[in-house]
Amino acid sequence: MLQSLSDNPCWQPLGDEIMKRIANEPLPCRGQGEEAVYQQFVSEVLPYPNGNLHPRFFGWVQGPGMAFANLADMLASAQNPHLAGFNQAPKWVEERVIAWIAEALGFPSCCGGVLESGGTMASVLALSVARQAKCENYRLEGLQRQRKPITVYCSVETHGWIKKAAYLLGIGERWVRMIPANADFQVDVHAMEKAIVADKEAGCQPICIIGTAGTINTGATDDLNALADLAAKYNLWFHVDGAYGAMAALSPTHKHTVAGMEGADSLSVDLHKWMYMPFEIACLLVRDDKALTDAFSFAPSYLATFDRGVIAGGLPFADRGMDLTRSFKALKAWMCLKAYGLNAFAEAIQRNIDQTQTLVKFIEASPNFELLAPAPMNVVCFRFKGGLSSENELRKMNVEILLRLQESGLAILSSTEIDGKFALRFCNVNHRTQDDDILMLLQGLSKIADEVATVFLR
Ligand SMILES: *Cc1c(COP(=O)(O)O)cnc(C)c1O
Repeated sequence: MLQSLSDNPCWQPLGDEIMKRIANEPLPCRGQGEEAVYQQFVSEVLPYPNGNLHPRFFGWVQGPGMAFANLADMLASAQNPHLAGFNQAPKWVEERVIAWIAEALGFPSCCGGVLESGGTMASVLALSVARQAKCENYRLEGLQRQRKPITVYCSVETHGWIKKAAYLLGIGERWVRMIPANADFQVDVHAMEKAIVADKEAGCQPICIIGTAGTINTGATDDLNALADLAAKYNLWFHVDGAYGAMAALSPTHKHTVAGMEGADSLSVDLHKWMYMPFEIACLLVRDDKALTDAFSFAPSYLATFDRGVIAGGLPFADRGMDLTRSFKALKAWMCLKAYGLNAFAEAIQRNIDQTQTLVKFIEASPNFELLAPAPMNVVCFRFKGGLSSENELRKMNVEILLRLQESGLAILSSTEIDGKFALRFCNVNHRTQDDDILMLLQGLSKIADEVATVFLR
């Protein structure tokens, strides 16, 4: 299947017939047999994924997953160790992976870390560690006895996890100050400082600044050094969301774009994005490991530890996050890092950036396409102009181009809004992408755009 990817459509719609057969099947009380179920999987499920394995998948931020990691996931599932901790080899594999990720990103190896399902959960945990660290008596009283309303500072470009976190952590969206960004889509640090000062004067308690290394919309990175200084000046927690962008630290030409993240109090990074691991694996790193366990450790009698036996060493991972029963996420990262070496990942990341910059050059040179934002890394926001000037028509035309491209099966892009304009969005975290795939995308896109334009210009 993996070998013939490029010859097959990137995505194909699931017909009504199969959809209804799966969606309406009653609970099978009597077994159908393993062989029959496997056959159905092969014919009705396997051919209809959302496309992210494909070398020309450039939508959203979805890693393709590496084949050797698929094997590792199967072994992890077969071994099925309980990764709350316990006195077992898998625990040390997990600890090592966390330490390697920290080292690769310039974090001190003695920091606290935990593997999570994704960047969302890693950042939600980070914000709850920040809240525990900055609010008096938080573990006992929660938010019930805080004397002042707490406030958090991020950018209008911060990923949507912050809204879920604000809700889940009892902070409330209104108290998350989403500061405007500059023309490079980096948060306006001066405006952020003004907001902090104004909030303090108004009786609020600022607790945390969130910076982003690689924003979801355009791949911009905030001025992380300036944000670190600001956090230090006002004694705030500094979290960096590096869900995919943090890995740019491995790129020889682009590591400077994410400089400063190593100075954060906490950093979240997805390994299922720009480290090419299959879902789900992300890592939260916390500079002060005690801050992490202060937030999450617990010691019920049914989990008493001893200095010998199966539970010797306790449950370190359960003490660093919310999940108690945890799967062996680390194995795939451990096996792939050891098999290929960090340098191979760095090369793949560099290739993704170079391929992206090829697309940028094409758009800049084309009279028909225009960039809608700077493309500092591996994300490009652009649109087809095709001689139209009405914003409304441009939107409709580009939506049509996007959907026709997707339905053609040639390649997948996604979309976003840039300054109120509809943008086609390209994001490359795909180790399967060859330079030829970028050429095929360019040719296919130009052809589809021309076809759509003739309809709109009629
Ligand atoms: C993808 C992404 C997230 C969310 O990560 P998940 O793994 O999807 O939960 C958060 N922030 C940024 C910048 C992202 O790109």
